[in-house]
Amino acid sequence: MSQNVASSSPSSSRAPAGPPPGPEACPACGSTAADTALADARDYEYGVPGEFRFARCASCALVFLSPRPTLEQIVSYYPAEYHAYQRPTSRLFRLLDRLQYGPRVRRYRRLLPETGRVLDVGCGDGSLLREIGRRGPWELYGLDFKPEALPASDPAARPLHLFAGTLEQAPYERDFFDLVVMHHVLEHVPEPATTLRKVLEILRPGGTLVGQLPNYDSIERLVTGRYWNGYHTPRHMQCFSRRTLGALLSRTGFADVRTSPALHPGQWALSIQGWLAGRWLTRTRLAHGKAWFYPGCLLAGIPLTIVETAVRRSGVMNFVARKP
Ligand SMILES: [Zn+2]
Repeated sequence: MSQNVASSSPSSSRAPAGPPPGPEACPACGSTAADTALADARDYEYGVPGEFRFARCASCALVFLSPRPTLEQIVSYYPAEYHAYQRPTSRLFRLLDRLQYGPRVRRYRRLLPETGRVLDVGCGDGSLLREIGRRGPWELYGLDFKPEALPASDPAARPLHLFAGTLEQAPYERDFFDLVVMHHVLEHVPEPATTLRKVLEILRPGGTLVGQLPNYDSIERLVTGRYWNGYHTPRHMQCFSRRTLGALLSRTGFADVRTSPALHPGQWALSIQGWLAGRWLTRTRLAHGKAWFYPGCLLAGIPLTIVETAVRRSGVMNFVARKP
């Protein structure tokens, strides 16, 4: 069977529905009272020019990019060499990818009934969906706003139901999915409250949202400051903490919200790389966001992520929430 690839129609390619936040409004709670969390933030990975500002909401404490960029600007912040668009070319890297999927897929499997539907938001080349599909008979759905990131049709593989566009544009029915996966997605979307309302709508009652994102209240940010890779300036529209993420999920209508620390040496590596390249090695050339000394940063990141995970102040966190 071939894969079903749908895409947004020209009439639906406009911005997601709902009033956009004002230039200084908090994208989680709408409050317009905010102070500055980080001025003159810069892109230390891909060299998008300019200085950016992160504000901290005076009401809910969310840290967010302010002023908010337009959708056209957001698209321009993702160069063709962006790491998420690069598929592993060597067998070794494909094997490493599969190894890191293992624990995640086992976790997702525990959240799924014997049969059901899974949606991976920001599915890229569909590798995670294929790993999930290897372990059970679930129906596999994926979407990505970048059509060229989606996998080519493979008649020999399990069918994937794919959609090119944003979650807000996708034509999914209400109460449709048993599990929605948002792995490093919620920090990138311009209107996280609107996105989560859509997730709540398409999950069946009792269905689960699961994901991972950077943790603002981490030792990693305290140590690396403006070079913390959780800012990922200017591609992260907001930086959640356990508190601000939990508050937004609960306010949206999710129940049983839980967060947990995640081992993530790669983010530590990019924070260290940003610190070195931004402060000392300012002429460093980067390829796909990585410097020649990135492997050394990755080695350093392994003990650091273990320590901060042990004290529950990790730079990356997992989250789970259920639709009542
Ligand atoms: Zn707020």
